[in-house]
Amino acid sequence: MPAGKATIQSVLLAALCLPGAYAVPRPARQDPESILLSLPSAEIYSRHLLNLTEEPHPAGSRRNMELADYVRDRFIEYGLEDVHFHDTPALLSRSVSASVELVAPVRLRLKLAEDPYPADKDSFLYRDPRVVPYHAYARSGDVTAETVYANSGSPEDFAALRKMNINLRGKIVVMRYSEPYSYRGYKVWLAETHGAAGAIIYSDPQDDGYAQGDAYPDGPLGPPSHVQLGSIVYDWLGPGEPFTFHWERGGGTWKEGTVRDRQLPKIPSIPMSYEDASEILSRLSGPAVPSGWQGGLPFTYHIGPGPVRVHLRVENSERIGTMRNVLGAIRGTAERDKWVVIGNHRDAWVYGAVDPGSGTAAMLEVARSLGAALRAGFRPRRTILFADWDAEEDLLGGSTSWAEQQRDRLLRDGVAYVNVDSGVSGHDFSGGSTPALAGFLQDATRSVHDPDGGGSVYDAWAARSRDGAPVVEDIVGATDYTAFQENIGMSCIDMSFGGPYGVYHSEYDDYFWISRIVDQGFRYGTTMARLWGLVTWRLANATVLPMRYSDYARKVLDYLGAIETKDAARPLALEQARSAARRWRDAALDLETRLREGPVPDDAAARQVNDLLVRVERAMTDGEGLKGRPFFKHLIYAPQPTYREEILPRLYEAIETGDRDSIPRYEAQLVAAFDRAALLLRQARGRLEEGA
Ligand SMILES: [Zn+2]
Repeated sequence: MPAGKATIQSVLLAALCLPGAYAVPRPARQDPESILLSLPSAEIYSRHLLNLTEEPHPAGSRRNMELADYVRDRFIEYGLEDVHFHDTPALLSRSVSASVELVAPVRLRLKLAEDPYPADKDSFLYRDPRVVPYHAYARSGDVTAETVYANSGSPEDFAALRKMNINLRGKIVVMRYSEPYSYRGYKVWLAETHGAAGAIIYSDPQDDGYAQGDAYPDGPLGPPSHVQLGSIVYDWLGPGEPFTFHWERGGGTWKEGTVRDRQLPKIPSIPMSYEDASEILSRLSGPAVPSGWQGGLPFTYHIGPGPVRVHLRVENSERIGTMRNVLGAIRGTAERDKWVVIGNHRDAWVYGAVDPGSGTAAMLEVARSLGAALRAGFRPRRTILFADWDAEEDLLGGSTSWAEQQRDRLLRDGVAYVNVDSGVSGHDFSGGSTPALAGFLQDATRSVHDPDGGGSVYDAWAARSRDGAPVVEDIVGATDYTAFQENIGMSCIDMSFGGPYGVYHSEYDDYFWISRIVDQGFRYGTTMARLWGLVTWRLANATVLPMRYSDYARKVLDYLGAIETKDAARPLALEQARSAARRWRDAALDLETRLREGPVPDDAAARQVNDLLVRVERAMTDGEGLKGRPFFKHLIYAPQPTYREEILPRLYEAIETGDRDSIPRYEAQLVAAFDRAALLLRQARGRLEEGA
C-alpha cells in the first residue's frame, strides 16, 4: 500500500474514533517501550498540574472531589478500563481557628500566616483570616503555660531534658521539624506522654531555610513565614481499619462515641514558622542548649522553662468524611487475573504542587501513554491497575482501606506495587524497593534519558553514589506502599526526583514554585512519566517476573550480621537464621542461572513460575505481626513510629525492650520464612526442568 494512502487512512481513523489527546495519526506498529518513552508531553503534564494545584484540596474537600472527577475523566479519555470510584468513610480533622500569643515577658500576638509574594497568585491564602495553619487530629484546647525548647522532639532529646531535670508537666513544648524527616506525630506524642499541656512544632532555618540555600522566591528553601502543615495521628498505635475511630453510624448519621481512641492526640498542637517561633525562642532563659540543639536563628538558644508564657488556642473540627480513590485498569492477556498496581495520592494539605501533584500529573501521563500503547495493539500480559489514592496525608487512608478490602485478592494475585508520591522536588533520582526488585529498577533507569546529566537516569544516579553503583534504598512505611509491602507482602518500588524542598506542606508548594524554581519546562515531571511507564510496562509484560531473590537473601544476611551486634554488650548468635538465609540464597542463584542460560519458558510454565516468585515475597510476612502493631506483618521491614526504618523488626524490638525470651521464637519465624522462600524457588526451578 502506498505510504500516502496509509497516512490518509490513519488520519481518518484518528478523526473518527480517537478522543481528545489521541487526535493524532495512529502510529505504525512499533515497540511499546518507544511509545512510553516518547509520548509524555510537558504541555499536557503542565495542564494537569495547573488544574491539580488550582485550589487547596485536602481529603474530603469539595475541590478534592472535583479532582477525583478530573482523574476519572482522564482515565476514561485515555482508554483505561473498569474505571470506578472506591469510597470509604474516615474521620477527618480540619482547622476552624487558632491563635498563639505571648503573655510574658511581653504581650505579642503571633502572625500564624504565610506572607504573600505578589508574583505568585497562589500565595495570598492567609489574607482570609479563617485560614490558619494546623495539625490534623490535634486536640482542640486552650492553654496558657511556660514554654520549653526540646530540640527535634526525639526520644533522645526528651531523655536529655530528663537528665537536665527539666520538668515538662503542664508546659508548652516547642520542637523543631527536623532533617532527616522524623514523624511530627511522634514528637507530639512524646510531649504528651511527658505531661506537656501543648506542643508547637516549627521549621528551623537550619533544617529547611536560609542555612541550606536560597529561599523562596529566589530558591527552593523555606521563607521566614512558611509553615509545614501535617497530620499528627498516632498511627503506630494501630493503623488500618477502622478509619472512623470511635465514631459510629446510627440512624444514617455518624455519632461520636464516648471513649476517644488512643491514636488521637490528647493535647493541642500547632505548626509554626521560624519567624513566629523566634519570638518565643529568643526570649527563653534557663540553660543554654546542649551541642547539636542550636538551630539557625541568630541568637543562642536556651531551654527554658520560661520566662516566656504562651497562650495557645486550637480549635479543630472532626467529622466523618469520604475518602475517594479513583481506579482504572488495562486488562492483561495471558495472566489477566494478576495485578501490577501503580499508585499516587491526590489529596494535598494546600495546593500540593510537589506533594503529590507532580506525581499525579506523571501518573496521568503514564495512563495516556499506556492507553496509546494499548490502542497501538500492545496489551500487557498482566493487568495494570491505576490507583489515585485519597487521604494519604491524613492517615494513609485511601491506599490502606483499598488494600484491606482487597486483601484476599492481593494475597493471591498481587504481583507488585509501584508508588510515586512527591514525583519531583528536584533533579536527583532516588529509587527504593523491596530488595528483589532493586536490580530491575536500576536496569529500567538505564533506558531513560536524564535531562541535566546528558546520559541516562542511571548514569546521573550512579554519579552521585560513592562507588559508582546507584543505591536502591530500603523502603519503609511513610507513604502509600505501606499496606502493600508491610501488610500484604507484595514487592514494591517507590520513586522520586528530589532536591532541596523547603516548602513541604506549605502554601508555597504551588505551581509557581515548581514551574519557576525547580522544574522549568517540566523536564523532570515528564522524565518521571517516562520512567514510571517503562517500569510498569516491564513488570506487567515480562514473561518471567524480574524478581531477583539472591539479592534479597544477601541483604538479609547483612541485616542478620547487624542485628547480632546491635546490643554490643549482649550479642546474638543467629546461626540458624543465617543458615536458612544461605539456603534461600543458593536456591535463588540456582533458579536465576537456569533462567539466564535456559530457554524462555512457554506461557503455562512461565505462569506457574511467576506465581511461585510472587509468593516468595509473601513468605516474608507472618500472621502475628508486631507486638501491639499487628498490621505490620513483614518479618524484614517495619517503620518505627518516627518513620525511621526498623530492620528485622521483631528482633529489633525484642532487643530494645529487653524481651530476650522471645528471640528464639522470632528466629524460628525467620528460619521458617527463609525455608518457605527456598522451597518456592526450588519448585520454580523444578517447573522449568519439566518444561524443558
Ligand atoms: Zn505526599
